[in-house]
Amino acid sequence: MQRLRGTKDILPDESIFWQHIQNTASKLLTLASYHEIRTPIIESTSLFKRSIGNGTDIVNKEMYSFTDQGSRNITLRPEGTASIARSFINNNLHKDNTVKRLWYLGPMFRYERPQNGRQRQFHQLGIECIGSLNPMADVEVIRIATNILNSLNFSEYTVEINSIGTSEEREKYKEKLIRYLTPYINDLDHHARSKLITNPLKILDSKNIKTKEILNNGPSLYDCLEKSSKKHFQEVCDYLECLDIEYTINDKLVRGLDYYNYTAFEIKTKKLGSQDTICGGGRYDSLIKQLGGPNIPSVGWAIGVERLLLIIKDKTQIELQKPKIYIVSEGTKACKRILKIIPLLEKNNISYNLDLNNSNLQKKLKKANKLGAKICIILCDYEIQHNCITIKTLKNGSQEQISILDTNKLIDKIISET
Ligand code: ATP
Ligand code: MG
Repeated sequence: MQRLRGTKDILPDESIFWQHIQNTASKLLTLASYHEIRTPIIESTSLFKRSIGNGTDIVNKEMYSFTDQGSRNITLRPEGTASIARSFINNNLHKDNTVKRLWYLGPMFRYERPQNGRQRQFHQLGIECIGSLNPMADVEVIRIATNILNSLNFSEYTVEINSIGTSEEREKYKEKLIRYLTPYINDLDHHARSKLITNPLKILDSKNIKTKEILNNGPSLYDCLEKSSKKHFQEVCDYLECLDIEYTINDKLVRGLDYYNYTAFEIKTKKLGSQDTICGGGRYDSLIKQLGGPNIPSVGWAIGVERLLLIIKDKTQIELQKPKIYIVSEGTKACKRILKIIPLLEKNNISYNLDLNNSNLQKKLKKANKLGAKICIILCDYEIQHNCITIKTLKNGSQEQISILDTNKLIDKIISET
């Protein structure tokens, strides 16, 4: 049996990096009053259709959808924000009228062509700041993203930002864009041509050279923005400057999901080849209302954890924790004794590895060395006869016997030797 294409097993020597990322992020997020939310991995297919949008790649071709035994249309979540908006509504989280700050980390599913930094099951760490229209909220979430990256010792990234205005402003722009691009239809690449009908804004971030050239003289989205959109954007930029967060304005930056408005941003790196976006986010002021909830503005982002991991793995020294103690016992009587000692080790925070092999003492000691243990506790026939425990210090081979009843001495000795 093979794992499915586009999925990965995260083995212990890698999961320590995952823990490192989560610990670093959750510390910073807790400081900023963000709290973890865990929503189901399966949701009604209609949730994603109604939020992410019917003309998007995610909904059109990337969703893992199926019908369950009760004939319900179900989808493995392709992203986190829609589920959180749904949960926000279902759980009446707006009832106390305060800003809700939430974070999540979990698997997402998209049927895409697997490559480095692109999987079918991947993970996102994301945050949502729900309940404020203040540009300070946009800046808070961007700052937290850069703060997390910096705290993971990663600084070779750039922040790109754009304002995609309101849906009315975008409609106006879409018309202009279609009018501008239609005469060039035969010069556009295949992808852009199909997008011209389904999702013309997505042509803007095309990587095709010819299409890019054509777009250079095209209409500007910014020109279609009204005063309030421009003001919001200007304030976000001002606050970023005040925080010394470097950014570039990318007027071709549009997100792949329909629900965004005003601010859209991405954090990119040159370290990852073509999968260069580590973090994507923006404002989504009408999503909650669109899903049947109150009119509550929000802003958030998601970081692709696999991509982040590819970057920080080389720079971060983390090793699996080694056991301090290796425990060797032989015979039922000795094993029973040892089982009583293990809780003492735990109580004193001493890590251990209990030998379960059927080999001779010599081999067991070798194993202890291999695992990097500092001390071996031995309880075999000899020790049972003499009512003692042998403590062997592995670095110099010295041994000491301690009365089996003197557990304090045993623990003191272990602590002094490790
Ligand atoms: P991309 O342009 O790389 O496909 P996207 O715009 O589809 O990204 P978002 O939906 O904004 O991505 O998701 C946020 C982040 O999640 C991305 O910036 C990326 O780091 C990560 N991500 C998205 N899709 C995948 C995937 N299939 N495999 C691994 N990470 C992914
Ligand atoms: Mg994508």
